[in-house]
Amino acid sequence: MKPIHTILFILIIGFCASKAEAEEGASQAAFCGAEQGGAVTVEKMPKSEEEWKKALTPEEYHVMRERGTEQAFTGGYHDFKGKGLYRCAACGAELFSSDTKFDSGTGWPSFWAPADKKNVILKEDPSHGMRRTEVLCAHCGAHLGHLFEDGPMPTGQRYCINSVSLKFSEKKK
Ligand code: FE
Repeated sequence: MKPIHTILFILIIGFCASKAEAEEGASQAAFCGAEQGGAVTVEKMPKSEEEWKKALTPEEYHVMRERGTEQAFTGGYHDFKGKGLYRCAACGAELFSSDTKFDSGTGWPSFWAPADKKNVILKEDPSHGMRRTEVLCAHCGAHLGHLFEDGPMPTGQRYCINSVSLKFSEKKK
């Protein structure tokens, strides 16, 4: 390889690497924002189960990574009526708005629609001898709860979500 070719090769590799880094940073900024005094900061997403264990409380880890369920009427949000946004407790993705929250009487916070359909993943869940639809965070894969088709209008859906998978932030005036 001639010296000029070597220099060009190094420049191209360097450009591609910095572009990939910038794109990764932008996607994390869009989803992993943790609100601190109004400012959104980007947090590094844990990757391995060991890292998740360190980043989450034991209860959060059990529900969000081991697909557990908090006991009904024990979570912080089932009877909570604040106006604002519910984010993923693990990564900060915007999941539900208080505008779609309703009292289902089940003991778990319930919503008739997600804030943005792109931010949740629906997956068939045949566990416990039932045929249910699991709801997961589309960004970090955290287990959130289940979706049922017995909710109120306008959708007739009920997103039955564990309080521990959510982090509420008040609506800015
Ligand atoms: Fe998440």
